[in-house]
Amino acid sequence: MANVSDFFGSLVFDDRVMKANLSASVYKSLKKTIDEGARLDISVANAVAEAMKEWAVSKGATHYTHWFQPLTGITAEKHDSFISPAPDGRVLMEFSGKELIKGEPDASSFPSGGLRATFEARGYTAWDPTSYAFIKGKTLCIPTAFCSYGGEALDKKTPLLRSMEALNKQALRILKLFGNDDVKCVKTSVGPEQEYFLVDKTLYDQRPDLIYTGRTLFGCLPPKGQELDDHYFGVIKPRVAAYMEDLNEELWKLGILAKTEHNEVAPAQHELAPIYTTTNIATDHNQLTMEIMQKVAAKHGLVCLLHEKPFAGVNGSGKHNNWSIATDTGVNLLAPGETPYENAQFLLFLVAVIKAVDDYQDLLRLAVATAGNDHRLGANEAPPAVVSMFLGDELQAVLDAIENDAPYGGAEKTTMKLGVHVLPRFQRDNTDRNRTSPFAFTGNKFEFRMLGSSNSIACANIMLNSAVAESLKQFADILEKADDFNSALHDVIKSTIKEHKRIIFNGNGYDDSWIAEAEKRGLLNLKTTPDAMPRLLDKKNVDMLTAHKVYSKAEIESRTEIMLENYVKTVNIEALTMTDMSKKMIMPAVEDYISSLAQTAKNKKEVGIEAKYEKNLISKLGALLEKIEAATETLDEKIAEYKKISDVTEASYFIRDVIIPAMDALRAPADEAEAITDEKFWRYPTYGKLLFGVR
Ligand code: ADP
Ligand code: MG
Repeated sequence: MANVSDFFGSLVFDDRVMKANLSASVYKSLKKTIDEGARLDISVANAVAEAMKEWAVSKGATHYTHWFQPLTGITAEKHDSFISPAPDGRVLMEFSGKELIKGEPDASSFPSGGLRATFEARGYTAWDPTSYAFIKGKTLCIPTAFCSYGGEALDKKTPLLRSMEALNKQALRILKLFGNDDVKCVKTSVGPEQEYFLVDKTLYDQRPDLIYTGRTLFGCLPPKGQELDDHYFGVIKPRVAAYMEDLNEELWKLGILAKTEHNEVAPAQHELAPIYTTTNIATDHNQLTMEIMQKVAAKHGLVCLLHEKPFAGVNGSGKHNNWSIATDTGVNLLAPGETPYENAQFLLFLVAVIKAVDDYQDLLRLAVATAGNDHRLGANEAPPAVVSMFLGDELQAVLDAIENDAPYGGAEKTTMKLGVHVLPRFQRDNTDRNRTSPFAFTGNKFEFRMLGSSNSIACANIMLNSAVAESLKQFADILEKADDFNSALHDVIKSTIKEHKRIIFNGNGYDDSWIAEAEKRGLLNLKTTPDAMPRLLDKKNVDMLTAHKVYSKAEIESRTEIMLENYVKTVNIEALTMTDMSKKMIMPAVEDYISSLAQTAKNKKEVGIEAKYEKNLISKLGALLEKIEAATETLDEKIAEYKKISDVTEASYFIRDVIIPAMDALRAPADEAEAITDEKFWRYPTYGKLLFGVR
């Protein structure tokens, strides 16, 4: 492999390339747009487009696309070639500023959740100059936002950018009060840790459930699972190592800072973490990472499973959203500073996050709600479905002292006085129990751990940024009017701790007693997507999100509908796949085995040997076959009932209460039958082969 620094970012139209290929004045205008959101002049856009095209063509690109993130959760692109006919029959490679800035894909095939009814079918894409253009294959990809013609967002980038702007606005108000007049802008950063499974492609191809739904719908556990804890951080197998090496190279070319990789807890499970970057770029990069993970896997005869729960009884996959807020002057607002003043500022931002997480638990929960993630949250591995925060003992002691006006510190205990005393530097917590918290403070950032492995990180960050913007707004409203800033500040911090400390839980989040305790504290326990999603429409949520101009009311309504639609459709496909596999693979396999056993019994009888073993097994299998058949029929009937329901909310309840239990009722006897059937009769590869098959 060539030197990484030679090819890192080689497929990105990044700052280095811009500087080298744009005139000084064009570069300066573009930078102003990127850094401060200034409007872009068309002449500048034309010059940028020309340079981008020249650069892309020199790298072998023939096409360009506006790359966007519709509400399907994956990315979309419509390719146009650069060619344009010249009068003499030749072609020219052309790309204008107008084509760079705006595209007009047909919006009608993307989910809009009713927005289409009120707005025109045409949509448009608008260039996001803050996220660099890049080359994928032979195509120049331009990161864009995607809106309806009426300006309603049809994607995940638009509200994310709006939420970053909302947080920026409110954070600047607070920073001004602390005298930070040099700060021009505040941005959030994210480092998403991505978990995934790798399975052999030839085995994958034999399982319709993996092909259609991304997870196994049947399968009994192999004799060995993850109980020996021998996989986590274990030696990486050669085939996996080759995959990771190739993956890193592809990501690095795209300027994605893939940094760490290791085996995860479950067999065949791995993790990739990039170095953190600005949230909207991190979001684009994570989408690209997921896409490239799958592409590179195919080259290695592997399939990368991004589903939250590919295997029952084995740990699922999540995504840890490491999140912080920083100024353009390089100050991390979630890091305790060196001086008493910086400490007070840190504590204010800290309690703003505590208040935000408590006030908008429901928004954080529903931002990660999908059919896949429902299997994880609360399943004794991932964080529970209850949102709570972990601060660690040291920081907890500081907050306790402030709340109770009590002495704080080691040998010479003093009463915490904000603006006077210096806080200690908080060690990041490395204890095991912190891994059980959905929202943990890790020294200078928060780690939100409820995201599913296939989720776009946009949704969680939209809610997080907006909720924190709201806390900061309320604080700024009070503090701007205060006569005595220091005492008002102390009061705000103290009363916020008092009001919102119920959200803080430093114990083991996997413990059943915590769920009971959480309910006593009045925390929400929204177990499934149908429980969580409708909360988006609660007045307090609509009021907050519209007040900060993150979403319009219509956008909120459409999103609720799309997410629920996605949930019901996903589970419906799973249910259909189950009855199909039952009829075409499972029952025939059991039948074949019974026939073979009967034949053996007959042969034995002919030579005068008793066939007790065969008879026994035949009767067991026969009983299971009856159960499987009945459960298949029931599931088919329930699917037919589901199809008659037109209201999506009602349908989601039916899925949760009727379809999923009927699926479980079919899986149980099918897995039992698998466990006692001769493997050569079984029609799809076992868990054992899938989980331990990649060497
Ligand atoms: P782990 O949580 O597995 O122990 P690390 O703490 O090293 O791993 O980092 C996890 C992720 O957090 C990485 O993507 C890293 O870049 C990111 N990260 C580190 N510092 C910050 C920060 N200030 N803001 C946001 N993300 C950060
Ligand atoms: Mg982590």
